[in-house]
Amino acid sequence: MLPEALRAVFIAGCAGLELVEHGPALERLSHDQFGFSPLLQPQLQHCLADVVVRVQRSQEVLQVAALCYRLQLPLTVRGAGTGNHGQCVPLHGGVVLDTSGLNQVRSFDPVNGLLIAEPGCRLLDLDEWLQPQGWALRLAPSTWRSSTLGGFIAGGSSGVGSLRWGLLREPGNLLGLEVVTLEAEPQLLQLDAAQAQALNHAYGSNGIFTAVTIPTVPWQNWQELVLELPDRPAALALGEKLSAAALEIDALCYLEQRLAKQMPPLPKLAAAQGDRLLLLASPNAVPVIEQLTTKAGGSLLWQRPQWPPKGLLLRELCWNHTTLQLRAVDPLVTYQLVLLPESELAFIELIDKQWPGWLYWHLERLRVSGKARWVGLPLFRWQGEDQFKALNTAMAAAGGLIFNAHALTVEDSGLGIVDGDQVAAKQANDPKGLLNPGKLRGFNKK
Ligand code: FAD
Repeated sequence: MLPEALRAVFIAGCAGLELVEHGPALERLSHDQFGFSPLLQPQLQHCLADVVVRVQRSQEVLQVAALCYRLQLPLTVRGAGTGNHGQCVPLHGGVVLDTSGLNQVRSFDPVNGLLIAEPGCRLLDLDEWLQPQGWALRLAPSTWRSSTLGGFIAGGSSGVGSLRWGLLREPGNLLGLEVVTLEAEPQLLQLDAAQAQALNHAYGSNGIFTAVTIPTVPWQNWQELVLELPDRPAALALGEKLSAAALEIDALCYLEQRLAKQMPPLPKLAAAQGDRLLLLASPNAVPVIEQLTTKAGGSLLWQRPQWPPKGLLLRELCWNHTTLQLRAVDPLVTYQLVLLPESELAFIELIDKQWPGWLYWHLERLRVSGKARWVGLPLFRWQGEDQFKALNTAMAAAGGLIFNAHALTVEDSGLGIVDGDQVAAKQANDPKGLLNPGKLRGFNKK
């Protein structure tokens, strides 16, 4: 809690800005979707900002940054708050800066598709703006309808489009940033692609974005497809064949039958009789996909164009939406994120042997450093921390690379390694360590 006198000075310094100071709105704007994690829930549910400031212009961001620096108040930036491991939760209270109102397109080049947009732009709004001009975003999380551009770059990792474009952090997916620093005289920096990389997926801990430059791609009339296969080996083999073929596929998700059965139904789609692959594919790819599916002993069950996006979308059964949908059936369900070794069937068998029937297998196909791989988002009913740790140990021993979905810091939810460039950017842009404190472990340790 801020001392009253300090609060009064802060509020006086925010003249003309929209503030949220109490009530359910203050609580809502202090939280994100950390309830996905039974480990983070008890750690974060009591965290509360002292004040939320809602900004609409870069100038206002500069004003709040200067004030926070002068008063030494923690400042945590927020987009739509859909992060699911507390990325925008203010661990030490202070100010939450809501940038969702900073939502204008600054410029767009219809010849090369270069987009400069403010961080509060919602991703679906951007796609709706781009589509009539024949362009589209490269990457989007399954929270496409709600999440913001800034929140995706600072807090997300991958999603629809990652089978073609890889992880968000692969060089080339972010081409520049306009950033406000937290110094006595906050600066408005213009960073090129190389400089921006240290702020990509750093949870807003080393700079506040006020504009984001990204490449877009020619719009494609993606078809939502559901394929059904007799068993897991057939489904995974087909997924691998399709992603290696000369076909345009933007997303490819595997759901084992007992998981597919519990997903909400797409219109006129019968309940799962086998394991399923869910795809976004170009219209030209569909006949070849159908032939290869039949050859693999399966069938193309369902097809619908994704655009215009209405009702339940196929992508809302994929990525972390699979978890959301199963949690609607059983709120004790959670997940872990693991990059599978290339012998994925042996990996799954080994884990299933140790805990028969505990995990529901959900995999996504994506490109990692140019190579198509399966990433697993296996779902399971929470059985306590000891069993969770044992699962992580077993998956790591079996060759899986865990990106812990139940960790608070950038490093612990990533490869566990401190990124010197991220820390150096924090030292330069936020020397007092006021931005989203507690989230960049490499800086905390200094
Ligand atoms: P927030 O949650 O508000 O913020 C995320 C991070 O960005 C925070 O650290 C915040 O401080 C920082 N930030 C926000 N704005 C700024 C700014 N202007 N400057 C600097 N830092 C800023 N993620 C994926 O990557 N792929 C998925 O497919 C995916 N699916 C999901 C499905 C569900 C059901 C849920 C609950 C989450 C999912 N997520 C996924 C996580 C999350 O939805 C996305 O990463 C989303 O893009 C975050 O955007 P947001 O606007 O909600 O950001």
